[in-house]
Amino acid sequence: MSPLLEVTNLRKHFPLHGGVLGRTTGYVYAVDGVSFDIARGETLSLVGESGCGKSTVGRAILRLVAPTSGEVLLDGERIDNLPNAQLRRLRQRMQVVFQDPFSSLSPRMKVRDILAEPLRNFDLARGAALEARLVALLDKVRLPRDALDRFPHEFSGGQRQRICIARALAPEPDLIVCDEAVSALDVSVKAQIVNLLADLQDELGLTLLFISHDLAIVEHLTHRVAVMYLGKLVEIADRRTLFTAPRHPYTRALLSAVPVPDPTAPRNRMILTGDVPSPIRPPSGCRFHTRCPFVFDRCRTEEPLLRPGAPGQLAACHLEEMPAVAA
Ligand code: SF4
Repeated sequence: MSPLLEVTNLRKHFPLHGGVLGRTTGYVYAVDGVSFDIARGETLSLVGESGCGKSTVGRAILRLVAPTSGEVLLDGERIDNLPNAQLRRLRQRMQVVFQDPFSSLSPRMKVRDILAEPLRNFDLARGAALEARLVALLDKVRLPRDALDRFPHEFSGGQRQRICIARALAPEPDLIVCDEAVSALDVSVKAQIVNLLADLQDELGLTLLFISHDLAIVEHLTHRVAVMYLGKLVEIADRRTLFTAPRHPYTRALLSAVPVPDPTAPRNRMILTGDVPSPIRPPSGCRFHTRCPFVFDRCRTEEPLLRPGAPGQLAACHLEEMPAVAA
């Protein structure tokens, strides 16, 4: 069966303007040749530090920003070059849950109107059928039915994010992009929302692109993980392989920073030094070479390609061509 979403060589370069004439003086290479796919019913997590381009990938797929180049196929149909007049149809098939549940809900609309809006806009339900859909949506996200007649400010952050999830579910989309959807929440609330998404996955067979900087969070939810660094994918693998046998040094550094509940447990910490370089002038060769503890000459000049490791695992590192990665 072909994947629900296929992303091939996606690029998004934002122009920089300067001078009196506002000429283009350079580009921010936010996303620079990213390819992956997502099967129907699968959750793929896109992880990496702030500024690595992961949210831009999500926005380019949703056509909230126009990709510079590359192809995005939804169910076999090319959507990256759809004319604006056809984007409305796309909006029904792909929904998004943003990071901030405070700014993403209109303070002037009751929950009833927030949830009814997509159903009315896409002409999916009216009258009694609409009312029944609203009640069902609240049940799905475990909110009481009297929530319909309240305003967003009457809810906690976690409850607001449940409303955002219900709004995303309303038009029964093929794909939901969760863009740092739990990052702004308190730790305990974060766990509740992740558990809710996991339950919804089971109940509804959702297909999710889950964008997060937090590997610990995605472990409980995801089927596969794609790791991004400075506009490029550096590793992609199923959850178990990535968490037990990561290949790329950057993935290993991210994993070694995940807190463990037992402070006495032996740990092999890999501390990265320096900041993420600017995406305006990304380093030559391997983009991670300025921070990689295993860097060698070739890394500075030749860009590593994604190469297969274990079944379903790809990593972009010159060490992959050597017998084993140093511990
Ligand atoms: Fe490190 Fe070189 Fe591998 Fe890049 S290619 S991750 S710099 S060892």
